[in-house]
Amino acid sequence: MKVLKFGGTSVGSVERIKEVAKLITDGERNIVVLSAMSGTTNTLVEISNYLSQKNPEGANEIINKLEAKYKQTVDSLYSTDEYKQKALGILKTHFDELRLLAKDMFTLFEEKVVLSKGELLSTNLMQLYLNEQHVDSVLLPALDFMRTDRNNEPDAVYIKEKLQTILDTYPDTKLFITQGYICRNAYGEIDNLQRGGSDYSASLIGAAAGASEIEIWTDIDGMHNNDPRFVDHTQPVRHLLFEEAAELAYFGAKILHPTCIQPAKYANIPVRLLNTMDPSAPGTLISNSTEQGMIKAVAAKDNITAIKIKSSRMLLAYGFLRKVFEIFESYRTSIDMICTSEVGVSITIDNTTHLKDILDDLKKYGTVTVDHDMCIICVVGDLEWDNVGFEAKAIEAMGDIQVRMISYGGSNYNISMLIRQEDKKKALQSLSNKLFANK
Ligand code: ADP
Ligand code: ASP
Ligand code: MG
Repeated sequence: MKVLKFGGTSVGSVERIKEVAKLITDGERNIVVLSAMSGTTNTLVEISNYLSQKNPEGANEIINKLEAKYKQTVDSLYSTDEYKQKALGILKTHFDELRLLAKDMFTLFEEKVVLSKGELLSTNLMQLYLNEQHVDSVLLPALDFMRTDRNNEPDAVYIKEKLQTILDTYPDTKLFITQGYICRNAYGEIDNLQRGGSDYSASLIGAAAGASEIEIWTDIDGMHNNDPRFVDHTQPVRHLLFEEAAELAYFGAKILHPTCIQPAKYANIPVRLLNTMDPSAPGTLISNSTEQGMIKAVAAKDNITAIKIKSSRMLLAYGFLRKVFEIFESYRTSIDMICTSEVGVSITIDNTTHLKDILDDLKKYGTVTVDHDMCIICVVGDLEWDNVGFEAKAIEAMGDIQVRMISYGGSNYNISMLIRQEDKKKALQSLSNKLFANK
């Protein structure tokens, strides 16, 4: 059994939906996880924002526009009137509920219901299209088996048990369709796995079903050795270790959500990134084994803030770093990069919600300086410390670019450099020339 996840871009239009329908009917036993059509979740977020600001008129206007867009999709997706009518019935159910929510009190609970509509629509429309094409498939409601616990973490035991029970009732079914992203929380309320969470759903479902492979289908040819939005002539990377993919996914290679890695790695299920626009391309295989002695890729993450705390008292003192870390912990702010010296420590964060409070607290321990609009450049590959020369090459590529921090040795898979955001394109291009020339 395989799990195939198609992202918003892959189900974003009638043509793409038809393409996906072809790809999933390969005669194998497949569970297909779908995102919302691209743009839909953003629109649902907009609707929720209007509703929480008590502006139902604003919300209704967007609801009507979204509904009109879906009606167009329905009109060209189905070929018979019978199925067009059935599809309009599906739209009516969901859009009527949205309008009803616009009338009522709007809390976090209602917001989650609004956000769930994108995946409910895409999967129901796909299931109906498959029916029209006489393809035998079963729609598995994710809300029946995807669940988070009291810590808002997926409840792997519950998911496995529930999913297995449901699958067992369809021993002869080859094709299952389900929603990514949405789930129920510990109280049974509708919830979600955070933005971009469909990849996470696919990985959790793959682990729960004991899949042989998890395929993540998107509109680009696998993970690239550099960001194609900034660098020309990038190449897809054929093999990655889970650890390498995790570094890349976190540091800006948006094609795979970082949360997706852990369940697949733990269950030892390979993840393959594939391209809906070029289905026969090999894509990227992520697994627990890969080639050694290679730099694989470079990624970048923007909107980073660097904080330096300088203290003469740090010299020969113990407990200084603990105090610093405790401040970040107390404001639930995670640290990305860290560099230390005998007289100071530099730290980067990407969430500045509590920056002012953090800085006020840090000032008790030393002189604090802040650099905004920074960018982490992350070079990923086999960077074990007994391999010689790789880190030198990466630093050499920085040439005349001003580098604020360098972090190496934290894992065997990465070297990170902090630069100004405005230097990102130049740095990525230079690294590409140095590390991947003649490939
Ligand atoms: P999906 O729903 O298929 O995951 P999304 O709309 O969530 O698609 O985002 C994936 C998109 O992000 C792709 O269309 C891709 O072009 C783009 N993208 C963003 N960052 C990168 C990157 N570093 N490398 C490749 N593609 C990227
Ligand atoms: N539709 C959700 C989002 O846009 C989940 C996903 O696409 O992965 O965030
Ligand atoms: Mg995505």
